[in-house]
Amino acid sequence: MNYIDPHIHMVSRTTDDYETLAKMGCVAMSEPAFWAGFDRGSAESFRDYFNQLTDVEPKRAAQYGIQHFAWLCINAKEAENVELSREVLKLIPEFLDRPNVLGIGEIGLNKNTRNEAIIFQEHMELAVAHDQSVLIHTPHLADKYQGTRMILDMLADHSIDRHRILVDHVEEHTIGAVLDAGYWAGMTLYPVTKCTPSRAVDMIEKFGAERLCVNSAGDWGPSKPTAVPDLILEMRRRGHSEALIQKVVHDNPKEYFSQSKNFSLDR
Ligand SMILES: [Zn+2]
Repeated sequence: MNYIDPHIHMVSRTTDDYETLAKMGCVAMSEPAFWAGFDRGSAESFRDYFNQLTDVEPKRAAQYGIQHFAWLCINAKEAENVELSREVLKLIPEFLDRPNVLGIGEIGLNKNTRNEAIIFQEHMELAVAHDQSVLIHTPHLADKYQGTRMILDMLADHSIDRHRILVDHVEEHTIGAVLDAGYWAGMTLYPVTKCTPSRAVDMIEKFGAERLCVNSAGDWGPSKPTAVPDLILEMRRRGHSEALIQKVVHDNPKEYFSQSKNFSLDR
């Protein structure tokens, strides 16, 4: 089955991973800007990273027939440095017209600090000013519930169509609030910790498949870039229809991305 991985950090993956994903049916992916596993020293380092996301990775993906899209921001972890963040925010507009850019992301919170919140709000102002969709990272583990509440409160300050916002890394205790508020929700599949494919299918069964996407995260840490095919297998094992599976892994991300002017699917 053809599928889209809406959240995968390919800068951390090998070219062999691209080949494997293509063989498993991945036709498109989107890569939010995130932490690189280390704190970067200057805004120029982010300029190089944005070039990597908008020039290098699309070419690497195209060698395997995969379309690569990207989101730009300074991530919540490095947003603790407000001065650096503001320099990076100034860089972003010049990249928004690159042909694979879908919007601003993944912004959000890491430790739910005041500085993270300040930079979150400044990213939202940038998104509204440039008519961009927004992809949002919610904190992991103990900070997730509180951080998700803070994010939903901050989002209410901005005049932006709620369907243009995807709140990612939802779990059982946060998914309901995100969907009820009218946003898209993303479930990130991890092989062991956090949300497993089995828990994700439980949530699809409980909450339905509207405005719900699944992704692998596939980053520099322990993660599995082929986690979306694992979910397909789990849904089949439980007897879900091919139409429902396709909606979750292909049609939904396509619908969400289609609100971005740079998005079109070749196949
Ligand atoms: Zn991410």
